[in-house]
Amino acid sequence: MEFLFNSLLELITQTSTNLPPDVRAAMGIALKQETPGTQSHQALSIMATNIDMAHEDQGPICQDTGMPTFIVHTPVGVNQLVIKKKIKEAVAEATRLGKLRPNSVDSLTGKNSGNNLGEETPVIHFEQWEHDEIEVKLVLKGGGCENKNIQYSLPCDLDHLGKAGRDLAGVRKCILHAVWQAQGQGCAPGALGVCIGSDRAHGYDLAKMQLFRTLDDVNPNPELAALEAEIVAEANRLGIGAMGLGGGVALIGCKIAAANRLPASFFVSVAYDCWAFRRLGIRMDATSGVITQWLYRDPERPVERMAKETGFPLTGREVILTPPLTAEMMRQLKVGDVVLIRGEMFTGRDAVHAYLMKNPPPVDLNGAVLYHCGPVMLKQGEEWFVKAAGPTTSSREEPYQADVLRNYGVKAVIGKGGMGKKTLAGLKECGAVYLHGVGGAAQFYARTVKKVLGVHLFDFGVPEAMWHLKVEDFMAIVTMDAHGNSLHAEVEQATGDVLETMKA
Ligand code: SF4
Repeated sequence: MEFLFNSLLELITQTSTNLPPDVRAAMGIALKQETPGTQSHQALSIMATNIDMAHEDQGPICQDTGMPTFIVHTPVGVNQLVIKKKIKEAVAEATRLGKLRPNSVDSLTGKNSGNNLGEETPVIHFEQWEHDEIEVKLVLKGGGCENKNIQYSLPCDLDHLGKAGRDLAGVRKCILHAVWQAQGQGCAPGALGVCIGSDRAHGYDLAKMQLFRTLDDVNPNPELAALEAEIVAEANRLGIGAMGLGGGVALIGCKIAAANRLPASFFVSVAYDCWAFRRLGIRMDATSGVITQWLYRDPERPVERMAKETGFPLTGREVILTPPLTAEMMRQLKVGDVVLIRGEMFTGRDAVHAYLMKNPPPVDLNGAVLYHCGPVMLKQGEEWFVKAAGPTTSSREEPYQADVLRNYGVKAVIGKGGMGKKTLAGLKECGAVYLHGVGGAAQFYARTVKKVLGVHLFDFGVPEAMWHLKVEDFMAIVTMDAHGNSLHAEVEQATGDVLETMKA
């Protein structure tokens, strides 16, 4: 097994940095179908640019490289303990090289292990099979989309859709509801893995397993094939748009399995994956561990560039923001304005927000820009470099954000997916704005960072620390302004109205 470690490291690197052809094709179709000039189209253009950048530089497509989940098939007689050990070594090395973000956090102490190893991480499933080779499939699914997974127990009552019964019509309603409730928070356009039936725990497993099907395959069960196609078509009429900014795309795929259930239970389990749908696989020689075949990749189909042009097409109407910012400046901004940030900003996510509830900030945040981001960082010599730095889901900071604005004078918050009523009221009270970045565009945003000026609260671990960054032309859209307007609330209401028409 002399090549096993290197083969696994290559699998992790390629999965993190290079989207499979079926996902690229689906994103290409979404880009063509979205109306040019809309914010949804702009977001898709940035995603396309980001996909190219990640591939060209072998950098993580998204800074959240998720819970590494391996599905391993081995011939009878192969030592699975050796494979498990090598997978763990390869995961630690990929983390050290900046291909994976340190993502394994002790649930009791909150401590990040720093190498993606810990209790039950990474996730590894073993199966034996009759073939001669070893197969390893890997999916990297981040927390933003993982948090939008949902499970229904039929019969139930659903927002906008009413009663969902124990039949395929009820299942259809659940899946449409799953898309609607995700809005942009799982970084739409997304892809769904669905399991009808089974029990609660295995239902979720089987839903996730559907994500190992290619987006362009056809379900062998004609009834499920029809439902998959119907869901994609209907979801894309909801008006969610890329990142929930409103528009004609919401889903790039829906894959459904049916499993037997207990007479008393009828679950519909939905695994929501984001556009940064990272899934690959390899077959290896069972003696040497050398790669004999890549899965999901067509050797006849070379990797093509996704974006027509690199970067964000500027219109000249962008508003330049140079911190420190004032309430007066922020009150001039309206929902829909595109801003370019030039100057300094601080990252801060879950741990930082919780810390700020009980402690003063380690830096002066008056007039500051606070970026909800858990970057991938690498230290070379004494200097830190950003390897990936897209926005994280902001709604987790909803309980804290208004207090942070009020107590410390932050004037702009950048994140993704939008925030709720409490934050909206806080923005109005304090003269501040919420700026929306493109989720998953980790390479695109990493390139706007010209220098890492410092780091605070480093004990929280790399993703949770407060990084002090100097950026140039960091693009974001005002989606919640200082006048009480929220694009997210508008899109949720409008898409809810459309969902209501899909009751039948
Ligand atoms: S693209 Fe969005 S949802 Fe997906 S892993 Fe990245 S931040 Fe999370």
